[in-house]
Amino acid sequence: MSNQHSPLKHLNTFALSAYASNVISANSTQELIDAWHESVSKHQPVLLLGEGSNVLFIENYSGTVLLNRIKGITFTEDDTAWHLHVGAGENWHQLVCYSLQNNMPGLENLALIPGCVGSAPIQNIGAYGVELQKVCEYVDLLDLEKGTVRRLSAEDCQFGYRDSIFKHHYGHGFAIIAVGIRLIKSWVPTLGYGDLTRMDPLTVTAIDIFNSVCAMRRSKLPDPTVTGNAGSFFKNPVVDAAVAEDIVKLYPNAPHYPQPDGTVKLAAGWLIDQCALKGYQIGGAAVHQQQALVLINLAEATGQDVLGLASHIRQQVAKKFAIWLEPEVRFIASNGEVNAVERLW
Ligand code: NAP
Repeated sequence: MSNQHSPLKHLNTFALSAYASNVISANSTQELIDAWHESVSKHQPVLLLGEGSNVLFIENYSGTVLLNRIKGITFTEDDTAWHLHVGAGENWHQLVCYSLQNNMPGLENLALIPGCVGSAPIQNIGAYGVELQKVCEYVDLLDLEKGTVRRLSAEDCQFGYRDSIFKHHYGHGFAIIAVGIRLIKSWVPTLGYGDLTRMDPLTVTAIDIFNSVCAMRRSKLPDPTVTGNAGSFFKNPVVDAAVAEDIVKLYPNAPHYPQPDGTVKLAAGWLIDQCALKGYQIGGAAVHQQQALVLINLAEATGQDVLGLASHIRQQVAKKFAIWLEPEVRFIASNGEVNAVERLW
């Protein structure tokens, strides 16, 4: 299916009114390959998109938006684990529900994360102490030019904090078509965050955790189907221990989390809140009142409104704390992805 001058408002969770020359929905590997070659032959750029939950269209896109809609969930099991093979176009939260309905715990902390399964490895999605890399067994990657598929092990994926090889070496000309998930049968609950810390590790069930995560998310985060947003706009900064120490001396309540390598993770939302920016608005874009790390489309915001707001936030945080926040959201300009930090100067 293909349209000319296609609106993207319903294809990005920010609900920004941008347009692409063309939108193609692909339900199979072959349809992805065909759409890719068609666009290349017309010298048009191609943007692969799942549910558009981590993108900011800063202007109209002058090429083809290729929606990866490959479906299907199957699983096998052995003595120690369940092994799920999931099509890239499946909805992430529906996968979490499916696994729990089939008594396979392990994904409950990752409930309600917007987006597709195929997008999850790209930024190594994470929440409430669990990242995708903990459960990812493999990723099936299609080389769009050659039409070949390669299976990458979790190690091959080079997962990091909101990072993977799919943002770098395999960032262009490749499509994730399926993800392998391994859920171990000797399940241990992860209870280090928020309301989960009050749960009893001996009696808690994966469903209890799922319900608590859903309740926490619903109470703090805007529902993208109601208020346009792309989740956390900035990454949490990871700084040298000495930098964190100076901040904690001045602000004893500053959340800070020492990392295994001696660095310290700070909470970007807290830094923004300290600059009194909750509710701050530029054009139709605003800082969310409940969670300062989330920027929202309050009233027909444009990509430029969000850019202006993000730029202001970065400058205010840098002025107060000498820390330059980096966007987690990916910026899409007319010819493709651009360096988000450079766009915010
Ligand atoms: P929060 O509880 O207000 O905490 C703020 C930040 O502090 C979090 O981002 C988290 O970092 C860190 N943190 C909190 N407790 C921690 C602990 N026990 N150990 C280490 N780090 C800790 O966070 P929130 O905004 O409500 O989000 C809850 C979770 O959902 C977080 O894991 C967050 O990353 C995730 N989330 C992600 C997105 C997204 O778009 N990427 C959007 C919403 C929420 P981490 O981010 O490293 O976990």
